Amino acid sequence: MLDYDLHCHSTYSDGTLTPAELVARAAGRGVQLLALTDHDELEGLAEARHAAELHGMYFIDGVEISVSWRKHTLHIVGLKIDPSYPPLVAGLQQVRSGRGARAQKMADELAKVGIGGVLEGAYRFTTNPNMIGRTHFARYLVESGQCKDVKSVFNRYLAQGKPGYVPHQWAALQDAIDWIKGSGGIAVLAHPGRYMVGRQSMGSKTMRELLAEFVELGGGALEVVTGSHTPAQYAEFARYAQEFNLRCSCGSDFHGPNESYRDMGRLPDLPLGCRPVWDDWKAAPVVKAV
Ligand code: AMP
Ligand code: MN
Ligand code: MN
Ligand code: MN
Repeated sequence: MLDYDLHCHSTYSDGTLTPAELVARAAGRGVQLLALTDHDELEGLAEARHAAELHGMYFIDGVEISVSWRKHTLHIVGLKIDPSYPPLVAGLQQVRSGRGARAQKMADELAKVGIGGVLEGAYRFTTNPNMIGRTHFARYLVESGQCKDVKSVFNRYLAQGKPGYVPHQWAALQDAIDWIKGSGGIAVLAHPGRYMVGRQSMGSKTMRELLAEFVELGGGALEVVTGSHTPAQYAEFARYAQEFNLRCSCGSDFHGPNESYRDMGRLPDLPLGCRPVWDDWKAAPVVKAV
């Protein structure tokens, strides 16, 4: 079996490595098939694909789309998408367009609790200012000494219910799935164990309603192995995938050295009984090994 990593981020969204640096790191760690899945953005894919060619690595075009479903923000990964598909390009442009105003509101909310002047600081941590998000705020707040690391910034200021959290309307689930499927890709529900209500995961009743709707709307896979799941969650979501007849995906969700749940590649195998998302990728849109 190849070493697959089907979820990671570059400087085109909230990763700290450029696509070329990311691919080089993946190659060095033994990844043989990589998908770049920046949030709401496709601009890094060409550079990543080119770098993958140089390393003789298989490469899949991907994206991670921000979605609002009920009161939750969900992330839908698209794999094997066509980055030139006009409805996908236009849809993502629309999703990105609200980020500037949201960032301004986040800065206003943080100012109310005594942390002023963060907007400019957060923008300094972006390479692609259209994609300003919470991670860039978190990095600035660490740099400015407010918190010791990114995780603590989220816990204190940026997670839902905290002072700097600003509710936002992202894409509709149906639209995100349609853009992905319409472009020839498969829609994957990312890190299903991370959708929380307060400090609790969303619960099996809501999870089943979500998965039923996801399947009904054309969703194809569940991310079973991801950096933020425990081994117990690999097993839990493998069972959900079987129950809902979904394929299974795996990815590190790597954002940068020292900042991620886990590094790229060498992920645990999918649990037995999982049907891998790559099962029918016989003629992968790939690069020959050099
Ligand atoms: P945004 O799209 O601007 O809301 O930012 C979402 C990103 O914030 C996610 O993709 C993660 O990279 C990061 N994130 C969310 N929650 C946490 C957390 N608790 N700890 C660290 N990073 C987080
Ligand atoms: Mn992220
Ligand atoms: Mn995500
Ligand atoms: Mn991600």
